[in-house]
Amino acid sequence: MLFACSPSQPTQAGAPPNILFISIDSLRPDHLGCYGYQKPTSPFIDSLATKGVRFENAVSTTSWTLPSHASMFTGLLGKTHGLVDNGMSLSEDQVTLAELLKGEGYHTAGFFGGPYLHPTFGLHQGFDHYESCMSNAFDGLSGDQVRDVEMSATPPSHTDITGPRTQERVAAWAAGRVAQGDSKPFFLFLHMWDVHYDFNPPDPFREMFVDPKYAGPADGRLMHNQAIRPGMAQEDLDHVLALYDGEIRFTDEILKRIFADLQAKGLLENTLILLTSDHGEEFLEHDNVGHNKTLFDEVLRIPLIACWTGNIEPGQVVRDQVQLVDLMPTFASFAGFNGKLPSQGVDISPLLAGRSMPARDALSGLFIDGMSLRALRSNERKVLRIDDSQPSVFVNLAKYPKEEFQVMIYPESPRGQKRREAGQRELEAALRRAELFKEILDRRAPNSIELTEDMRAELSGLGYLGKDDPSEEQED
Ligand SMILES: [Zn+2]
Repeated sequence: MLFACSPSQPTQAGAPPNILFISIDSLRPDHLGCYGYQKPTSPFIDSLATKGVRFENAVSTTSWTLPSHASMFTGLLGKTHGLVDNGMSLSEDQVTLAELLKGEGYHTAGFFGGPYLHPTFGLHQGFDHYESCMSNAFDGLSGDQVRDVEMSATPPSHTDITGPRTQERVAAWAAGRVAQGDSKPFFLFLHMWDVHYDFNPPDPFREMFVDPKYAGPADGRLMHNQAIRPGMAQEDLDHVLALYDGEIRFTDEILKRIFADLQAKGLLENTLILLTSDHGEEFLEHDNVGHNKTLFDEVLRIPLIACWTGNIEPGQVVRDQVQLVDLMPTFASFAGFNGKLPSQGVDISPLLAGRSMPARDALSGLFIDGMSLRALRSNERKVLRIDDSQPSVFVNLAKYPKEEFQVMIYPESPRGQKRREAGQRELEAALRRAELFKEILDRRAPNSIELTEDMRAELSGLGYLGKDDPSEEQED
């Protein structure tokens, strides 16, 4: 009823592909070579981009790990899937990507390095095999203890490395699959955690990008560190960034090794690979560090790279804006799913095939610690609302790509005011659509919702309503 996957994927003649889905936590696209970064942080990831499609403008639904992964796995915005705070767990009622693919005959395996992917938060739903690669400090802890430790001031996971564990455990899973001669297609999900602060890459990555003469107070501790503050010396900030870059290069190397192992075992044949992140990272662009504080582009923009040898034309760059919620319907489409899938994203496989799609705004939100931030973004503009009680701010991204906040709002010209008011109306309309979508999904009884003709037309235009009477569509 709410969304039907279109059968418009690049090519789909043969068996459904294996799916290898990689989420590198906290990875900013502008720190990758394929996105124009000047330092050699990502030779392996760059090679994936060369083999497939790189999305220039991919955005997250929020700016922190838990709700972002829930959006990846459900195709729903934060307020719709409901997993927006760290005291919560994903409802069993939600259909996850792993559940959907399992239903399509896939073997589903997930490996995670960060605590928010722990089963206590509910993102394990649908995985046949789901394995922790977190810091050993979490071994033997109950779900509640994992939650407590992660929410403590200095979680051990942030000071440890987890990539080698992921490599080792994925290799063991792959060997088991080969030994069993499993012929089912697989869905393999990897959550890579090391790029998340703090930045403690092992040698030789620790030294790779730092100034060897640096002797200042900064180190890889991004949080709870007096040296990290607005106005800090550029050379200190550069040192922090160099350690962040070291983590990226370290993770790039781990991925290279994982891929080499899968390749050697024959598991990369007919495999769709998709690499992304859950959010970016702030390095004082707006006086904050880390993430889950704002919805500026330094945390909203994420890398998105997809390749599938023989099926996706190599070397493509797509400038259309795409969103994390698009991944679920897109994977469903590639897996040959023909059912009805409620999603606030759309199947972007036409873009992967070099075709065009209508431009869409991306709605993002942040609802933690009493905050209620909203953003509505296109490639040209962003409408930001810092709090639901505040008027929104209009950002002309073409003129202010760095979202210089004060410059944007003062002084406000009559033209500026007009644009801001128009933006505010667009944001409110998008929020209304999202609320309506949630209401329909929650009730699964669309006839009980009173839709105005305008609303019906809006939802229909977005692909949320089928052509038929919604009352016929209550089954799933
Ligand atoms: Zn994260």
